[in-house]
Amino acid sequence: MRFMRVLVTGAAGFLGSHLTDRLLGEGHTVLGVDNLSTGDLGNIAHLKPDSRFSFEERDICQPFDPGKVDYVFNMASPASPPEYLKLAIETLRVGSVGTENTLEIAHKYGAGFLHASTSECYGDPLEHPQSESYWGNVNPVGPRSVYDEAKRYAESLTMAYYRYRNVNTHLVRIFNTYGPRLHPSDGRVISNFMMQALRNEPLTVYGDGKQTRSFCYAADLIEGILRLSRSDEHLPTNIGNPIEFTILECAEAVIEVTGSSSELKYEPLPQDDPMRRKPDITKAKQVLDWEPKVSLREGLQLSLEFFKSKL
Ligand code: NAD
Ligand code: UDP
Repeated sequence: MRFMRVLVTGAAGFLGSHLTDRLLGEGHTVLGVDNLSTGDLGNIAHLKPDSRFSFEERDICQPFDPGKVDYVFNMASPASPPEYLKLAIETLRVGSVGTENTLEIAHKYGAGFLHASTSECYGDPLEHPQSESYWGNVNPVGPRSVYDEAKRYAESLTMAYYRYRNVNTHLVRIFNTYGPRLHPSDGRVISNFMMQALRNEPLTVYGDGKQTRSFCYAADLIEGILRLSRSDEHLPTNIGNPIEFTILECAEAVIEVTGSSSELKYEPLPQDDPMRRKPDITKAKQVLDWEPKVSLREGLQLSLEFFKSKL
């Protein structure tokens, strides 16, 4: 394998830091950038002694020149609904202006480019499971649109750089992913449930808990992203775990794995909260020979120590 100099935006975040670990482990050199809006320097503290890793605190919405890079992974964006609702304008800007700035870097240096897109592009889907050919059901002016529409615009922009500027781009539609370093208080369901269960507090189920999600363990996801980045596939590709759980089943799994005595507490369902979500990963299987290996219960078990350390 050719060793590369790689730019990772959002490197201090949950997925950006796992991706950085993998790239360094393979022998590449990584420049991580992050504005620390939802990230945590603690996620990359262990990399300080590594001479192949460097870090710059910066907002990718300001143009910047990292010097010659061979590949750009654009992971920067708030990702949890409570956080992107708090950082609404910032989320729209990082998806649009920030993505354009990083595409410009890839264009300038002839580097490959991967953008972290999302299953949220499908909105509250009318097709189930969601395959890449489905165009989605997004409320373009609802509260979640600051995230969904920014990501949809970023996909369109990325395809335009592929078609008109000859940049070697890749688009991954990431479905709900969890694991160590998922921010314990960022409001996503796995972090909320794990922390609540470990404190023996009630688990907050929004709505009746019958809505579904399909949860992918971080290491599985990173493997899929890396394979996509090295492929000839330029159209969006779903990466996620196709095993679907209701939120009530997810609560049950968390209580079991943590051995908690927590009960459930029902709270209102947020506006435009998708009712069902499950990736069709036929394309990832065929094109990347990829499928997830870690079950939800195994992945929760592997995340237990991390969440305990955050109590
Ligand atoms: P995260 O919040 O842990 O990481 C995102 C990182 O981006 C943070 O460190 C944050 O500080 C940084 N960031 C945000 N705006 C920035 C800016 N303007 N300039 C520089 N850095 C900025 O979230 P995550 O779960 O690791 O998500 C990573 C990427 O994957 C995001 O683009 C997200 O939309 C996408 N994604 C994640 C999931 C998931 O389930 N984890 C699902 C779908 C898509
Ligand atoms: N959810 C919940 N309790 C929580 C947090 C989330 O019931 O404490 C629900 C939420 O309404 C959604 C699902 O769990 O239906 C997944 O939410 P999350 O914020 O993790 O991600 P989303 O898939 O909505 O982006």
